[in-house]
Amino acid sequence: MRIGKYDVQIFSDGIFRLDGGMMFGIVPKVLWSKVKPADDLNRVAMDMNCLLVRDGAGHVVLVETGAGPKLTEKQQRNWGIDTPPALLGELAKRGVRPDEVTLVTNTHLHFDHAGGNTYRDGDRIVPTFPRASYVMQRLEWQDAVEPNERSRGSYLPDDFAPLEATGKLELIDGDAELLPGLHVERLQGHTRGTQVVRISADGTTLYFTSDWMPDRHHLPLPWSSAMDLYPLDTLATKKAILPRAAQERWIVGFTHDVPRFGRISLVEGRYRFEEIDAA
Ligand SMILES: [Zn+2]
Repeated sequence: MRIGKYDVQIFSDGIFRLDGGMMFGIVPKVLWSKVKPADDLNRVAMDMNCLLVRDGAGHVVLVETGAGPKLTEKQQRNWGIDTPPALLGELAKRGVRPDEVTLVTNTHLHFDHAGGNTYRDGDRIVPTFPRASYVMQRLEWQDAVEPNERSRGSYLPDDFAPLEATGKLELIDGDAELLPGLHVERLQGHTRGTQVVRISADGTTLYFTSDWMPDRHHLPLPWSSAMDLYPLDTLATKKAILPRAAQERWIVGFTHDVPRFGRISLVEGRYRFEEIDAA
């Protein structure tokens, strides 16, 4: 997908599985299971999507790093991960070596978004992308480093804590322009420090949602994850962003849908997502 000077690709690090009730919050299973069938453990399968943004002038930006290679067998079983992480293979397919990535950012630091930030090298945990700056929202960093009883299960310190000592960590406060036209915007909802990615150039906007809108099934306003720490903020975000996305014909990518871009439209009072050819 071409947005101005940027080549933007979306791909999956692999599938993981979460309890369907957790994913759909107050929505009864009789409704959500029609669009997202559950397995015999009541789990729904979801991709862990990453964005690769290149400007052709040496900047290689990676948004999200999937679940990564450090999970124990028990963690893989619990989260229904039964394939090795695809991230580095997907980058290689696109001609990108880990040492060519110049900037890594995560929409938030949950294990399914930040796991590939680091890997285990002997008894050390080291950055997967040795030349990259790792740019994170300060609020998300603080909440990940000091989680509470409710949020603790989603954060694995090895995904982010070792970055601090490398000198490659850059904490930002709120909205920032990482490269010309490539913005991150903090949106409290899923967590306090969650950020989305927006690339605007030549009158076109590409928007990567983060988990306030993990997939197309969360388009109806009340359909939100029980994982959201600030559900009413998620609702306000949906009311603010979805009309704009539809009206301005944004190209949208989701964190946990099939790894495709599409557009959102309002048809007879309901938001719909239609995939577009991402050539
Ligand atoms: Zn997620």
